[in-house]
Amino acid sequence: MDKVGTDEKKLCISKAIYLPNPVKSQNDKKEYRVLQLPNGMRVLLISDPNITGEEDSEDGGEEEEVDEECEEEEEEEEGSESETDEESEMDPDSTESNGVDSGLTRKSKQIKEGERMAAAALCVNIGSFSDPSDLPGLAHFLEHMVFMGSSKYPEENAFDEFLKTYGGGSNASTDYETTTFEFEIHQRYFHQALEIFAEFFASPLLLPNSMKREKEAIDSEFQMALPSDSCRKQQLFASLAKDGHPMANFTWGNSSTLNLAGDPDGTELNRRLRLFWQEHYTADRMTLVLQSKHELNQLEEWAVSIFQGIPSTNSQPACPPNFKDLGFPFDTPRFKRVLKVVPVKDVHQVCLSWALPSQLENYRIKPLGYLSWLIGHEGRGSLLAYLRRKVWALDLASGNDESGSDHNSTYALFSINISLTERGMAEIEQVIAAVFQYIYMLSNQGPEERIWREIQTIEDLSFRYVEDSPPVENVETLSEHMHKYAPIDYITGDALIFDYKSDVISECMNALRMDNVNIMILSKDFENADICCDIEPWFQTRYEAKDIPDDWKQIWSRALEGELPFAIPEPNPFLASDFSLYEPSSVAASISVPTKIHCTEEGFSLWYRPDSKFRIPKAVLNFYLVTPLSTDCARNAVLLEILAKILKHQLMEKVYDALVAQLELAIHHYDRGLVIKVSGFNHKLHLLISAIVEQFVRFEQDVVDEVFEALREQQEKAYKNFCIKPSKLITDARLTLLHTSHWSVLEKSEEVKDLTLDDLKLFSTRLKASFNLECLVQGNYSNEQASEVALSFKRNLQANGRLSDGALSPIRICQVPLGNKCCRLASFHPTDSNSVVVNYYQVGPTNMHQTAIIEIIVNLMEEPVFDILRTREQLGYNVYATLRNTFGVLGFSVTVDFQADKFSASHVDARIEAFLNQFNLNLEAMSETELQTRVQSLIKLKQVPDVSLDEEVSRNWNEILNEEYLFDRLQQEVH
Ligand SMILES: [Zn+2]
Repeated sequence: MDKVGTDEKKLCISKAIYLPNPVKSQNDKKEYRVLQLPNGMRVLLISDPNITGEEDSEDGGEEEEVDEECEEEEEEEEGSESETDEESEMDPDSTESNGVDSGLTRKSKQIKEGERMAAAALCVNIGSFSDPSDLPGLAHFLEHMVFMGSSKYPEENAFDEFLKTYGGGSNASTDYETTTFEFEIHQRYFHQALEIFAEFFASPLLLPNSMKREKEAIDSEFQMALPSDSCRKQQLFASLAKDGHPMANFTWGNSSTLNLAGDPDGTELNRRLRLFWQEHYTADRMTLVLQSKHELNQLEEWAVSIFQGIPSTNSQPACPPNFKDLGFPFDTPRFKRVLKVVPVKDVHQVCLSWALPSQLENYRIKPLGYLSWLIGHEGRGSLLAYLRRKVWALDLASGNDESGSDHNSTYALFSINISLTERGMAEIEQVIAAVFQYIYMLSNQGPEERIWREIQTIEDLSFRYVEDSPPVENVETLSEHMHKYAPIDYITGDALIFDYKSDVISECMNALRMDNVNIMILSKDFENADICCDIEPWFQTRYEAKDIPDDWKQIWSRALEGELPFAIPEPNPFLASDFSLYEPSSVAASISVPTKIHCTEEGFSLWYRPDSKFRIPKAVLNFYLVTPLSTDCARNAVLLEILAKILKHQLMEKVYDALVAQLELAIHHYDRGLVIKVSGFNHKLHLLISAIVEQFVRFEQDVVDEVFEALREQQEKAYKNFCIKPSKLITDARLTLLHTSHWSVLEKSEEVKDLTLDDLKLFSTRLKASFNLECLVQGNYSNEQASEVALSFKRNLQANGRLSDGALSPIRICQVPLGNKCCRLASFHPTDSNSVVVNYYQVGPTNMHQTAIIEIIVNLMEEPVFDILRTREQLGYNVYATLRNTFGVLGFSVTVDFQADKFSASHVDARIEAFLNQFNLNLEAMSETELQTRVQSLIKLKQVPDVSLDEEVSRNWNEILNEEYLFDRLQQEVH
């Protein structure tokens, strides 16, 4: 570089302005710096000291391309064949109890296995609100086009290929008022990746010949969203906004909206695309976050030298389009009505919504968080406890999910979503009356500072002990926060509450009235009744809209006159106050795997490992009640699932406070029996465990017919809804074929129909009479404390004793006969063209050597399978190869999600086979050195330490569930 260039750079560095540093958690070791570049771009630099040593693994976990605001569910966890680890797995659309409730608490996601990457995100203050009326989806389309080459790096997929070669990946998403781009990559290549990344914003090519493919990608995203009830509901909701307001926009875009009339070759579309870019993608409306192991000074130098070239069109400070002048979007008669909607899934749901003035400015008070805390409460005296006792509802979620569609500069949504039972559906006006009664009680009492302070304490605690989120997620979130909060609040703005202001809370509370509510009722019952004759134009959702009936209004008003069956929550007994740390002996600390604690109890294995690494006052206790009942017939498998659900249902009123106090509870079935997991601050954890055992002991006594019937019905629907999803159905089918004691969802949905309460009681009694108990305790407990708490669980629950020897038959996996075997399933949702092909190749019983070989093969396959089947052949949006370890039997599979109206399944299958043949040839041609490089990176990846207690525990717990007990599997695989 010549001298002039260097001097120029220095000049610019000196012109960057420092802004105040954000407040961070006291346990956050990362360092932060905030700058504003001369072009107006605001930059947050994060130096992450958690990365030690030289890491040059080339592998990365597979990155799902998740785009758009309505993402619906988690991808199936690869590698482990666990059936349903999440309660929500069966029914992602239902209103889960801990779903969108407070808007204050956001659980930190578990950090993805693998090394710590460097990551960057850039967020532009522009989104779908700015779509031109004749081009819905243009903002989204531009988001797709930005990564398609720049003047300096013109090759279309060069960036993605570069990222993938060095273990990374990229993603982007378009929201209503922001568009965010992010990537992650191995530390060493961060600087180079930043240089390519910045060029997309300095001089993107936006070439006409890249447009066709990206239009198709956008159309596939829309096709995939079509069967999603939450997306359909959102678009229907948007249609209630007043004409001309961007809240009414169709934000997805599809192949019809992105084709202008009289523009067959896309010249005009391309011109409009460029215009949109020029107008909105200006540096002063961009925020940038960089996170890596490098020092702040180094990051600052890069930020300035690389990003100063992005042009800024405004000489004034950032001035995004102002939508406030358009007025309030939902002040329309069509909002204040009842809509009956035909859903895709078999559900009964009622959703009450209020459109309030935007609360973005009130982020330090979070009045909606306060309201949803109370309305979403499930403890004694709460709205949901009452609805459950009446067997009207099973779940309720309330609040605002903070997405652009729920909260933007023009309005804030407050919604209450209730999943109804058959009975609740029949008496729906009474259910709604109860909601108004509860709100009436709240407004009468006014805001309570005691409750607000309790929420504050809990949020403070959770922030203090927050676990690091993966860098790429962290930068993405922060780049968006930088548009919402003052620099000092970039990190805390979303997590904490600061100022108690009762008038602001009151104002929101009083806005939840009968005369401004929108009611949506979703039920399959409407499908055949001849009422839902209106059709929402984008998603073709069938619905009917009517004024709220006068007799409903009368019922609601009368309901306010009598005595109200509610009370606001008492002080929370589960709040931890002792955070002292247990110091394990140096011997104990040196053992890196759980050890078995010797105890005399029969049929009981206790694995324990004290925490010497993460040093947090938390613990995890996992219990696995193993019983032969769960595998002996489909009927018992269903009973086990229902038992887990009802036990949780019975517990909710008693333990909701514990969940609020950041303790966690999961009860679910697994192949061999029942899993109960608790975790969180260890101080009061034993109270939660006693509550569970106490309830389980009284299970038969407390279970009543109405609740049983409601949950049985819900289970029946859950099976049905499960089958609508091709990706779920196909996993179930594969396991049914392979696994001798895996009962298919179809078998289970037959059995669930005629189960009785007596069947369940008998099952529960038999289960508790004899089982083996596997237990894993990790975290801030001494050996003695761990034994005591685990043993008390066992003794109080297990009165009778263990299973006799030989009671458990081993789990068997069938051998797939040589040759091609094909299983085809017709979709249960005939109009849905979303389809899946999974080609599964069985290898045989696992051993370390074979596993390592297959793992390397799958690792080598990841990139080309995506590149060829998705990018080149355009078969579908979701394409991946994965290793399968099914109870000790090794295999791998290639999955392609495709649309049946574009390709046939045989074609997709043939393309997968063709790919594998070519892959084999390439593999044979691969040089020894090339192979060794890949092997070395895989080894490095396995040696990366766990980044959180949760991650370590879940690794160990999988060994127990799968009965392999190789706690040092990763180390063994290396050798
Ligand atoms: Zn997209």
